[in-house]
Amino acid sequence: MNAQTAVRWYIGLDIGGTAIKAGLVSNHGHVALHRSKRNDVSKALSTVKCVIMDLLKDADTNRFPAVSGIGLASPGRVDSERGVVLEAINLKWRNVLLKQEVEHDFRLPTVLLNDSNAAALGELAHGSVMSDNFLCITLGTGIGAGIVLGGRMHEGARFKAGEIGHILYEPNGLKCVCGKAGCLETIASGSGIVRRYIQYSPDDETASCGKAVHEIELNDIVQLARQGSVASLRVLEEAAEALGSTVATIVQSLDLDTVVLSGGVAKMDWPFTERVEAAAHRYAPRSSQVVVRKSRLIDIAALLGVTALLESTHFVKS
Ligand SMILES: [Zn+2]
Repeated sequence: MNAQTAVRWYIGLDIGGTAIKAGLVSNHGHVALHRSKRNDVSKALSTVKCVIMDLLKDADTNRFPAVSGIGLASPGRVDSERGVVLEAINLKWRNVLLKQEVEHDFRLPTVLLNDSNAAALGELAHGSVMSDNFLCITLGTGIGAGIVLGGRMHEGARFKAGEIGHILYEPNGLKCVCGKAGCLETIASGSGIVRRYIQYSPDDETASCGKAVHEIELNDIVQLARQGSVASLRVLEEAAEALGSTVATIVQSLDLDTVVLSGGVAKMDWPFTERVEAAAHRYAPRSSQVVVRKSRLIDIAALLGVTALLESTHFVKS
């Protein structure tokens, strides 16, 4: 970003099934008034509008310059050209005209992107990815990815590029939310790791967490792994192996040189990223080696991405 560029402020929202992360984001990559509001899926659209309204009021109260636009990141399949969420299972949205709704209510330029694509664009615009050909993988409840090819986001023929969570990895594995079984997501997502740990761990070990089985979280498993728990180490190592193998295939297909990991799984206090890289190196030929690293923008990448798109679409004429 050119230091001479005038500062503009945008509202950015990263809409998730359990929370909406939002903030006021400048075209120089600063995030202010950062907040997270619990999302109730039964009234997600009105919650989105409330978050925008509150941010506009707070921006005014805190004497920020006028807001120049609104950038929205949604999970699921998103038609970014028409601004429509085609299907977001976690939000129970289907064919929601989100861009139109928000533009109508707030009279500001608005853009909508898939959340993983937004994170990839954020990494491209403000991260430290020294590449124009990379994959940005978000490992949360599910697994999504944004693909950047030749410095441009690749959304695919039907806005489905990067849906790597449902690549089949383990035939006859655990049932997936998509209806199939053994998808990558059932092994390497946060929820997948927890489900497999519960399946493999001895009863006395789950009891040692001091929690009921249904309360066990990823952090408990990481803690147990650090104490030498065989079951915990097994599910974490198998998750890294599955992801590394999948990454090796994608990297070879698209000739990528960098993979960035973000989301709760990437943040864990265990060398997950290093294990994924080692597995990717084992599965790919030497000529297709890839750097795998943790995102430095984990919680704000999508906010930076949607506002970078707004900036390039509406305010920077090339
Ligand atoms: Zn699936």
